[in-house]
Amino acid sequence: MNRRMLRLAADGLLGVLDRLDPPRCLFCGDAGFGHMDLCRACYQAMPDNAIPCPRCALPWSGGTCAACLTSPPAWQAAVIPFRYVPPVANLITELKYHARFMAARILGWSFCDRLDAIYPSHDMPQLLIPMPLHYSRQRQRGFNQACAIAQHVATCLGMQLAPRLLWRPGATASQVGLSGAARRRNIQGAFAARSSAVRGRQVALFDDVVTTGATAMAAATTLLDAGAARVELWAVARSQGPLTALRH
Ligand SMILES: [Zn+2]
Ligand SMILES: [Zn+2]
Repeated sequence: MNRRMLRLAADGLLGVLDRLDPPRCLFCGDAGFGHMDLCRACYQAMPDNAIPCPRCALPWSGGTCAACLTSPPAWQAAVIPFRYVPPVANLITELKYHARFMAARILGWSFCDRLDAIYPSHDMPQLLIPMPLHYSRQRQRGFNQACAIAQHVATCLGMQLAPRLLWRPGATASQVGLSGAARRRNIQGAFAARSSAVRGRQVALFDDVVTTGATAMAAATTLLDAGAARVELWAVARSQGPLTALRH
């Protein structure tokens, strides 16, 4: 069965389930749309990351921001359509800490819908690489939230999901509460990539939230060192503040 037939079968099954148990908006309880537990009004109220800098994705109306002109990040473009505030932040929390996989579906679908609106002529990278968790953290959580969202994005956009080309060979301590310099030290050497599969390819590195950018910087640098032709940073949500930890 090819991908199109699988999607038609999945849509058919979801349609039957919708009639038995209609989807309800997670936020307001109104009828959901597109087989999702989200209503149209709440979707439209999701916080756009309006007119972002194309390199660091901070809201900014003047093209590439001064910080990125002076000292650009490793990746060539950032695509982050939402701000990390409610209800997007709640959906990410629901997925990450309560394993609500419907939230991954909503976030993945919303990312694709906004991608089409904000970047209508965007050249699609060839590979979608979810930001890996260290295996001990993945075992503890039971899943990788970035990968859970990226699965829906890959299906929506017809992209190849490549979750095994980038990994974390060693344990890194939690980044919470560390200064920029401490984060850089903590993350150095944290990633490894399969060069034979990455070399010459255009890739999108996918994460749920980008905060300081330290983790994304280390991962993107690893992919470029492994021979990737172009790396874009894709994420659902951008928290406020500059990419303080990623400048060289
Ligand atoms: Zn609603
Ligand atoms: Zn910038």
